[in-house]
Amino acid sequence: MLVVMRHGAPQSDVDRVVAVIEEMGYEARPMPGAQRTAVGLVGNDGRVDAGRIEALPGVARIIHVTQPYKQVSREWRVEDTIVTIAPGVSFGGNEVPVVAGPCSVESEAQIIRAAQQVRAAGGTALRGGAYKPRSSPYSFQGLGLEGLRLLARAREETGLPIVTEAMDDEGARVVAEYADCIQIGARNMQNYSLLKTVGKLNRPVLLKRGMAATINDLLLSAEYILAEGNTQVILCERGVRTFDNAVRNMFDLTAIPVVHGLSHLPIVADPSHGTGVRDKVIPMARAAIAAGADGILVEMHPEPDRALSDGAQSLYPDQFAELMVQLRAVASAIGRTVPPKPEA
Ligand code: PEP
Ligand code: MN
Repeated sequence: MLVVMRHGAPQSDVDRVVAVIEEMGYEARPMPGAQRTAVGLVGNDGRVDAGRIEALPGVARIIHVTQPYKQVSREWRVEDTIVTIAPGVSFGGNEVPVVAGPCSVESEAQIIRAAQQVRAAGGTALRGGAYKPRSSPYSFQGLGLEGLRLLARAREETGLPIVTEAMDDEGARVVAEYADCIQIGARNMQNYSLLKTVGKLNRPVLLKRGMAATINDLLLSAEYILAEGNTQVILCERGVRTFDNAVRNMFDLTAIPVVHGLSHLPIVADPSHGTGVRDKVIPMARAAIAAGADGILVEMHPEPDRALSDGAQSLYPDQFAELMVQLRAVASAIGRTVPPKPEA
């Protein structure tokens, strides 16, 4: 439930609403906005007496959020949320950041080289998994803590912020010490204990859509994170499994405008996992920007043919550089920008 205050209502009125909500045993979240202040009531179990709040001074109206997810919904917050993972790197505004790098961190030489190539082409952040959720227990599982240290080295070297995955509660706390943004992978989208843990950490979260999850499921998973107090959530469309095995996944671009209608959170697109095929990545990345994606997450490896994971969908460095040029053109056609190549 959302309590909308009158335009210009004094702070004392807002404080009173907060006090009454707390007295009723619920949590109050005051949200000053450009147009008006609202106070969210968290945890409504259906027993709230809205009439009591409606009668308080300064209250304009009460909005009952109709969606099952509350704080994630557009009803809760009308304006787009902008998530900043590092100074100058924000998702949800006019600029469309590009997060690129290998599927996995494999060695110091590999990740530093990748970071330099990402930066040289104008990429905005570095991706790379240190903890890898692999379908087979016999596949490369990632370098773990050593991988996080190497990512930190790559950040020092290039200045690029780091996006990397956490797979469990303990790992999430460690990842939060190194990463600028914690990725929750498709396989963990419904790991509710992990979602609650990252909800309590003071780090932006990139939440990927599960491979069999509906958009409603994705938004409910994001709600777990916001409900714990962390509003810095970036959603990610990465394709879903279907009957068609022509490509690895069905890349659901419709999810982008649908999510924009339902939620104020930014949504980025991952055409690498979305297609699983290198030569399909560039066209689908272009399409994702055209569809309104607030960022692109893409796999690029200095030597994809030697990659320990997802080599077949990883771009060659020169393809990534070409992709950046094309993405700038598509973004500009819809009045947005993809960051330029840094001056040499
Ligand atoms: C990844 O980003 O490398 C990854 C494992 O992605 P997903 O969770 O979408 O499969
Ligand atoms: Mn991958």
